[in-house]
Amino acid sequence: MQTTDVLIIGSGPAGISTALHLLQLSPLWRERILILEKDNHPRHKLCGGGVTRFGLRVLQNLEIPLPLPLPQARVDRVRLQYGRQQIIVRGKPQFVVFHRPQLDAYLAAEARRRGVQLQENETVTGLKTTSQGVEVTTTRGRYRARVVVGADGSKGRARRLVQGRAAGHVARVLETLQPTSGESIPFRENAALFDFTATRQQLQGYLWDFPSFVDGQPTANRGIYDSRAGRSEHRARLPEMLRAFLPPHLPASIQGHPIHWFTPRGRFAVPHLLLVGDAAGVDPLFGEGIGPALGYGAVAAQTIEAAFRRGDFSFRDYRRRLLRSPLGRYLTLRWAAARLVYHFSAYPWFMKPLWHIGAGIARLFPAGELYPQQNERHIHSDFTDQR
Ligand SMILES: Cc1cc2nc3c(=O)[nH]c(=O)nc-3n(C[C@H](O)[C@H](O)[C@H](O)COP(=O)(O)OP(=O)(O)OC[C@H]3O[C@@H](n4cnc5c(N)ncnc54)[C@H](O)[C@@H]3O)c2cc1C
Repeated sequence: MQTTDVLIIGSGPAGISTALHLLQLSPLWRERILILEKDNHPRHKLCGGGVTRFGLRVLQNLEIPLPLPLPQARVDRVRLQYGRQQIIVRGKPQFVVFHRPQLDAYLAAEARRRGVQLQENETVTGLKTTSQGVEVTTTRGRYRARVVVGADGSKGRARRLVQGRAAGHVARVLETLQPTSGESIPFRENAALFDFTATRQQLQGYLWDFPSFVDGQPTANRGIYDSRAGRSEHRARLPEMLRAFLPPHLPASIQGHPIHWFTPRGRFAVPHLLLVGDAAGVDPLFGEGIGPALGYGAVAAQTIEAAFRRGDFSFRDYRRRLLRSPLGRYLTLRWAAARLVYHFSAYPWFMKPLWHIGAGIARLFPAGELYPQQNERHIHSDFTDQR
């Protein structure tokens, strides 16, 4: 049986961010971390790929130079639509859309470049906590770790071990990618749409339309998010709503995935094992998970380092650290807003004034420049060779 101090399950943004933040605390962590990934990069990942300013700042703090050398679509203008009303949110950028397989492969390559050991094609099949740590069984062997980080996503084993079989609050997300022209409005104007009009038909969420690049080709990235904030109510018919939103006569293969909400009262750890990213919970208002996944890594790394320093692996302090962190405040605000907004979102008497007030506030507070516009709208690179 191999031993390691920290074993991270999953090399999505949450797992990689945890490893990079540990290295940032001390380069000595390099020898003490092992990441196990069941797939191999660039792996398929169903996702809109929108990384918000929150996530971009975490990358900056990790000294990852922005803009990343990947194909990307920058969004400077976000239109939040409700019927004929709209809120325009501006930022430079407000978010950036990446093709997720490429983004994750780039981050994994960066972790390797900084010396982190990442083993792909190795699936964790069993987890058993003991008084000394966690025994981990995989398709290739067995490990004993003082600390396991569950970064294995919303359907992962680690989440089930910490939170039990209880489903918690689960949102639904469907997405489709369709080739489009680079001259279409989202590309020309660096614009994205979040359309909340279907809340009148019981959707507790929105439909989106993002510009993106898939294999270097301009692609319309469209989907639907249903928070399921009021679980007992009528279920919106998501595939039908999404089809009605798409341009007619274009083939659309629709794929979906459940995601678990962050809630401030959630359970995020047991002794020797803590959760990050989707395993811990995403923003319930927009279903944003990439920025938060990157943010979880910072809090998890500090908590792990404190645990080794004190020799106390109970992780009783993880939830408190999380809630007091910028990520915890960000997610708690989104959680409270989701409960309020989606509770009343079926009622125009609530949504119309909300959009009126929101439009005024957005006009007053455009987000500043995070980094300058590139001359070329997308950047190609042979980043996969960096591995
Ligand atoms: C349709 C859709 C659209 C979305 N759009 C957006 C968006 O535009 N912007 C945004 O911010 N968020 C979006 N999200 C949410 C976002 O995709 C997730 O929040 C994000 O991927 C979380 O990252 P993570 O690292 O926690 O998990 P993941 O990215 O899911 O990574 C988990 C990793 O663990 C590995 N793994 C799983 N089980 C095992 C195992 N047993 N052994 C070893 N490895 C394992 C997996 O292969 C994977 O690589 C969207 C989600 C969906 C479903």
